[in-house]
Order: sequence, then C-alpha cells, then structure tokens
Amino acid sequence: MFDYNNILQQKIDALKESGSYRYFLDVNKSAQHFPRFYYENEMGEKKMAVNWCSNDYMCMSVNEDVIGKLNFISHRSGAGSGGTRNISGTTIYHKELEKTLSQLHKKEAALLFGGAYLANLTALSTLGKLFTDAVFISDEENHASLIEGMKASGCEKIIFHHNDTQHLEDILKALPAERPKIIVFESVYSISGTIGPVEEIVLLAKKYNCLTYIDEVHAVGLYGQDGGGISSQLGLQGGIDIINGTLAKGFGVIGGYIAASQSIVDAIRSFGSGFIFTTSLPPAVCAAATKSIELLSGKHEWRDKFHKNIRLLRNKLKEQNINFNTNDSHITTITIGNETVCKQAADTLLRDFGLYLQPVNYPTVKKGAACLRITVTVKHDEAEMAYLAESLRQVMQLLNKNDLPQLKQQEHP
Ligand code: PLP
Repeated sequence: MFDYNNILQQKIDALKESGSYRYFLDVNKSAQHFPRFYYENEMGEKKMAVNWCSNDYMCMSVNEDVIGKLNFISHRSGAGSGGTRNISGTTIYHKELEKTLSQLHKKEAALLFGGAYLANLTALSTLGKLFTDAVFISDEENHASLIEGMKASGCEKIIFHHNDTQHLEDILKALPAERPKIIVFESVYSISGTIGPVEEIVLLAKKYNCLTYIDEVHAVGLYGQDGGGISSQLGLQGGIDIINGTLAKGFGVIGGYIAASQSIVDAIRSFGSGFIFTTSLPPAVCAAATKSIELLSGKHEWRDKFHKNIRLLRNKLKEQNINFNTNDSHITTITIGNETVCKQAADTLLRDFGLYLQPVNYPTVKKGAACLRITVTVKHDEAEMAYLAESLRQVMQLLNKNDLPQLKQQEHP
C-alpha cells in the first residue's frame, strides 16, 4: 500500500536534516508599538522583541489614515467582495485603485491581483501563451514567482548572468529577429539588494525589439519622487512595457498588480486564468491601498527618512565591524553560510537580545548561503539600531568561536 503520509514525513525529515526546514515565529503584531511586537517563548512566557525583518518598510500597515480607510470602507462595503472580477467583484474601489496605479506608473492601465506573486505568475504565463514561439530571457536572480510564470507558459527560457547586460546582449544577438522576446528582471533584488541595470536593459530591448517585464515589488513606495519605484526614479517608465508591483510591502496592505498599455492589460484580463478564476480583493483593502499610495506619493520626506535610516543603520554596523553585503538599495544582508548555524544565530538574537531576524535559507538562497536579512523601517530609531549592531557583534563573535548557546539574557532598550 502506498503510505502517503509516511513518504511526506520522510521528505520533511530530510529537509530538517539539511537545516532548511522553516520554523515560523507566531508574531502578535502590535500596531501601536510597531516595529515592536509580542510573542511567546518556548516556556509560554510573553515577550517583546523588535522586528528587523519586516517588509513593511514605510510602516504603512500601521498608518492611522490607512487603517481608518480600511475600517470605514469595510463597514460600508463589507469584509469581502463576494465575487470574481467578472461576477460582481469589480467595485468602484477596484477601479479607483487601478486608476491610481496606472497614474503612479505613467501607464495606460493597471490590473489587480491577490498578490504580486499571482500577478507575476499569471502575467508571464499568459503572455507566453499568447505570443507563438516566444522566448523569455531571464535574470538568474529572478524571484520564484517570475520563474514559475515563465515555466507555466511552456516557452523556452534563457538565463542571463545576474545584471550582466553584455551576456544579455550576446543572448539577444543570437536569437532570430522575428522571434518574440521578453526580458524579465527586477529593479531591487529581494535578497542580494542589488539594483537592476534598468537603463541598459531598456536600450537593449529597443535595439532587439523585445518586450520588457520588471518586478518592482521591493521598490514601489520607496524609490522615485512619487514612490513609483526605480523606473520612476530614472524616468524610464515609458521604456518598460510591464511594471509589476505589490501593495503589501512599501504600501503596507495586500495585493499585487501589473501596469502596462491598454492592450497588454486587456489581454491579461481576458486570458489570464489567475486573474479570471479567483475572488477579487475586498473593496476596503483596495480603498486602503489607494489611500496608502496617495499618502506615499505626496510624502517624499517619508522616503528621505527611510533612506536616512538605511545609512544610519549601516554606519552603526560598520562601527561594530559587522560584515554586511553592500549594495545601493535598502536591503542589508549578513551571509552566514551554514543553515543550522544561521538559525542558531537568529534564535540567539531573539531569545537573548529581543531581536527578530528571520534566517533566510534554501530555496530563497542557494544551499550553503544562508543569511540574515536586515530591513530597517521608518519607525526604527537610532538607539535600536545601535543596540542591533552591538548585539550582532556579540553574536558574530560567539559564532566565530562556535559558541552560540553560551549567551546570557541581555538588557535591551
Ligand atoms: N516579487 C518579489 C521580488 C518578491 O520578493 C515577492 C515577495 O513577496 C513577490 C514578488 C510576491 O509579492 P506578494 O507578497 O505581493 O505576493
């Protein structure tokens, strides 16, 4: 007899053995005290810690006006939309949000999805099916949702070395001119924090007549004078055919989207299974996301504070001789390598220092390249940054001596 549970358990056991099994912390999120939150330790004691791994960069999930909008519209329109977009699930709030997004990205239209993962999966798989014999040319560090979208299209995919436009051009040169070509890349890469060479890719796309698809998930709300991402910062929205973004990170709510020409958006709307066959976002969520975009678009000084905090944090880390990976974005990672050691370091930081950094392991990064990914928000203060840096120094010292569990309880601000 086929023992389904046993086979799955063996796979889980092997994953645990490899150190890549994922343990989630049950965060009792506090809107009032963010980035601080409550949790229960193994002994069932209530503890408070500082969140250093949230993607709620601008703290919009706890913004009073955004929460107020969510409350107000949910009382008016209900908790859910009650239908797919085709069957009563297109409300005035969905349309308003799509209009706001198209304006943000200076595109003719935008299309909403349950999340940016679904947006990438649906848009890429649908495009690949609509263009006969299309080929995707994909950056090697692309996110899982982009990879799954290209795979689901059934089209050929060629990978170019990360951010290597010479390699990209070599690939484009070798492809027949008449073949549809779609270049897929990100603006801010979510783990390495590197920034894509947007301008060079736009030029190559023009030269070789390619469609361009950019994932701006870790950039929207954070870069550009209006929060429109790296393409907005560079004034290159016109050179990119499809811009993908999330409403969940910089904008602090939930949902994903693409912004593009009317015909591209209408094609995905009409043929994209992941758009058609799913209940639409709740109206109140759409209204809250619109509010968040409007606020962030008009408040460049909030973005200035965010970028100032990144510099401040990195200076504190330097003062404590912490080795972190440098890049031009807001993502700061410390490579640990071994998955088990990385988890031990994260456990120690939480248990003994009240600091929450989720260890990042395979398949998010390559095997043996586990890291601690630090994200600073607009609400982290200088004392918290100094404390993080000092604590990391102590933990790294013990890690280097192979002595992690030795730490004692620390006082923290
Ligand atoms: N693209 C990238 C680069 C991401 O890091 C993520 C992570 O969540 C996504 C897409 C998916 O976004 P969402 O959380 O809105 O589904």
